[in-house]
Amino acid sequence: MYRLTGSVGADGRNAHDDVQQVQIQLNKNAHLVEAIGRVPEDGNLDEATQRAIIAFQRQLGGHSAPDGRVDPHGLTWRRLVGDIPHARVDAFEALTPVSDNFYLYSNQDRVWGTPTTLQSVRTLVATLRPAGIVLGIGDISFAQGGRMPPHASHRRGIDVDIRPQRTDEARSPIRISDPDYSHDRTKLVVEALVADDNLELIFFNDKKMPSVRFHEGHDNHLHCRFKE
Ligand SMILES: [Zn+2]
Repeated sequence: MYRLTGSVGADGRNAHDDVQQVQIQLNKNAHLVEAIGRVPEDGNLDEATQRAIIAFQRQLGGHSAPDGRVDPHGLTWRRLVGDIPHARVDAFEALTPVSDNFYLYSNQDRVWGTPTTLQSVRTLVATLRPAGIVLGIGDISFAQGGRMPPHASHRRGIDVDIRPQRTDEARSPIRISDPDYSHDRTKLVVEALVADDNLELIFFNDKKMPSVRFHEGHDNHLHCRFKE
């Protein structure tokens, strides 16, 4: 994790690399704060970046009087990087079961996401229903984001864990090394995901599966990251 060497924003030191890191983090949160928009990641504290810091503080930082500054160990920086939850609760929605070919295998407090990501999940469920695919959805994010052990990600409402498909109808865990794992049915899920413009990437360890990336620990779920 990048550490700021000094403050960024109003009356800050505004070192080039620090400003750039704040800009990168602002953009990662841009889908949550309408007023942010995307800012240039060029290390220059321009007016758009300054406005974005204030918008973030007001909308997700719980500041009624934003000071427009990001301090190295301050709440604004920690909320920007997702180290601690956002102060606002209405950025995310809870995913609720919508269809009979869908179930949650996580607690209801762990399946909060951005409206756009949840729409992608609902579309996926609907698309795969005619093929008889039943989707098991796991962790997304907490209602206000922030750290979600044991994951490093799942902080921004855009990461969704999905169980691989089984050869039977059981709604239970499955690993790719398991004889009941179905590569072919899981491939239908991957293809439907890839067809979604909002998909960013999939971590999954079936080496014969196209369009996915290997990542330690992803033998028993597809980790799907969406753009917003
Ligand atoms: Zn995951």
